[in-house]
Amino acid sequence: MKRQTNVSQLNIRKCIDQRAHYEGYVELSEMPRLCEALADDRGQVVFELQFGVDEEGHPFLEGHCESDVTLTCERCLGTMPLQLSSDFQVGIVYSDEQAKHLAKRYEPVIVHSEILDATSILEDEMILSLPMYAMHENADCAGTSRELAAEDGSQSDEVKDNPFSVLAQLKK
Ligand SMILES: [Zn+2]
Repeated sequence: MKRQTNVSQLNIRKCIDQRAHYEGYVELSEMPRLCEALADDRGQVVFELQFGVDEEGHPFLEGHCESDVTLTCERCLGTMPLQLSSDFQVGIVYSDEQAKHLAKRYEPVIVHSEILDATSILEDEMILSLPMYAMHENADCAGTSRELAAEDGSQSDEVKDNPFSVLAQLKK
């Protein structure tokens, strides 16, 4: 059973030296930037984090995070449940200069103090895993029939203002 685990104030050098491993969950409501994109801030982000040092001596953090979230469909404005998940590996560096020389496989995280806010890294990863456009499948979407009706002549403002919903329909 996962338990709530606070990883927002990790001692970075200690974590790397000890190859620290963390797992647990963070409340969605502790990720305000992510919540801005969600219809509902109730729920948890379940995660695993593993610190390490690769063969070339570069410290890294790899991890997995996932969450069942609720988005707002951009077409019908109804709610839309979605599972977000991300596997990531970031390279830990202490300056912009070091970031430039980091192996390409890593996304750099520049640490400016002894304390690493891993909650913020998890939040970034969840934000990156959000879909570009939140939209139901056609069959599930209350907006689809409205749009089809609009195509039959009576142009509605909604269709005109949202070129992406038309695009999504063409792609089907
Ligand atoms: Zn919809």
